Amino acid sequence: MATETIAASINPWHVAQQQFDLAATHLDLSPGLRKVLREPKRELTVHFPVKMDDGTVEVFTGYRVQHNLSRGPAKGGIRYHQDVSLDEVKALAMWMTWKCAVVGIPFGGGKGGVIVDPKKLSLREVEGLTRRFATEISILIGPERDIPAPDVNTNSQTMAWIMDTYSMHVGYTAPAVVTGKPIPLGGSEGRNEATAQGAVYTIIDAAHHLGMDLTKCRVAVQGFGNAGAIAAQLMFAQGSKIIAVSDSTGAIHRPEGFDPNSVLVWKQKHHSVVGFPGTREISNAELLELDCDVLIPAALENQITAANAGKIQARVIAEAANGPTTPEADEILYKNGRFVIPDILCNAGGVTVSYFEWVQDLDRDFWTIEHVNEKLHAVMTKAFASTLDMSLKERVNMRTAAYMLAVQRVADATSVRGLYP
Ligand code: NAD
Repeated sequence: MATETIAASINPWHVAQQQFDLAATHLDLSPGLRKVLREPKRELTVHFPVKMDDGTVEVFTGYRVQHNLSRGPAKGGIRYHQDVSLDEVKALAMWMTWKCAVVGIPFGGGKGGVIVDPKKLSLREVEGLTRRFATEISILIGPERDIPAPDVNTNSQTMAWIMDTYSMHVGYTAPAVVTGKPIPLGGSEGRNEATAQGAVYTIIDAAHHLGMDLTKCRVAVQGFGNAGAIAAQLMFAQGSKIIAVSDSTGAIHRPEGFDPNSVLVWKQKHHSVVGFPGTREISNAELLELDCDVLIPAALENQITAANAGKIQARVIAEAANGPTTPEADEILYKNGRFVIPDILCNAGGVTVSYFEWVQDLDRDFWTIEHVNEKLHAVMTKAFASTLDMSLKERVNMRTAAYMLAVQRVADATSVRGLYP
């Protein structure tokens, strides 16, 4: 079966609950807390009309889910994709809860999504869709309530439209309602690169732990968007060889390596990485199984499954994407000695700098890129070290270790607040 078909047949919400159950069992969590943390607090479904360029009206479906708010307001991206579903958004919201807890930032988990392929819409239609969706979910969002950010197929422009729409409704400018904004609107230095930068900090720590020299490492990256392309550029800049990258149109491979900066220029012109001179086209499935040292999944969920986990050759799998590996695949990778840096740790740089952006917006006081990266580095290194310690102490893989840290923190916050009323 093709990777896409397998991925589509696995429900990410079931995966998220399975991962949680495993950690809850290890922690011997009380039955009451288990029931509370296993479900999202709120799920909003909206069906909303958008006027298209030809004058017709289309109705789109979107979601905003808040998983747990014990440690602070909800935080999480908004995704535009034709395969978005409520269960996917629920899983992504739950993962945000654990992610914020594992890096110790005072947010709960949220996520949003709209079922749409934005590549089939004009820019004006995407703006109309964004402003109406922002209006529909405005009963939930706000700087103290729920703060969206970019995710797959959304970017700083999308955040600018949401910020403007929300500000028009409340009657004053409210930059802190979203993060990942353009810098002139109160965006943070370093936010655009933060997910990839954070992932690279964890790869450096993993390499140190495993005794690997990153200047001798060969890297394959699945997904060439915000997370993947910048991760490839940063790994290249620090001396690793980028041997393969992919996007939704296909994958390219060159065992001797290539410059990802030039691939980005090529992609901007040709809307695909495929065809980049000097490389051979391979399938996305082949990319995952390549002979390489570091594999960075940076696209969508359920890419590494029981069907292909045994064929993964990379020593380190750095999950820049959310949910790329299923629980069955995790077991196989662990047994085969692969070192997985789990999503809730690996890609937490994005939400960490989102938190920095929110703090800067509320303070009206903006930081330099050096200050942002220094603080991000400190957060990521501390979270990596605590996860590794837990993994070695409890003899569990890095994902379960990160979950144990995160779930315990959220459980503590939830129980100390008490049960209302
Ligand atoms: P993006 O839209 O910028 O990029 C996604 C990339 O994946 C694109 O290049 C697309 O062509 C590619 N892609 C889609 N389907 C593919 C497939 N089947 N095979 C190979 N490539 C495919 O999105 P992004 O923001 O980079 O997000 C990517 C992943 O990182 C998602 O899982 C997202 O949740 C996660 N993430 C993003 C952020 C962030 O700050 N942007 C933060 C944390 C986690």
